[in-house]
Amino acid sequence: MVQGYCMKCKTKRDIKGAHADHMANGRDCVKGVCPECSTNMFKIGKM
Ligand SMILES: [Zn+2]
Repeated sequence: MVQGYCMKCKTKRDIKGAHADHMANGRDCVKGVCPECSTNMFKIGKM
């Protein structure tokens, strides 16, 4: 599991449905949603 920071819960959580993606500048990131509140989460870096 990849951990990210949920802005809404204001805490770190495991990213639900985490999948590799890229940001606009081409850098690697991981996207998914918060398991508690379903807010979109992302983390810079690889999985
Ligand atoms: Zn949350």
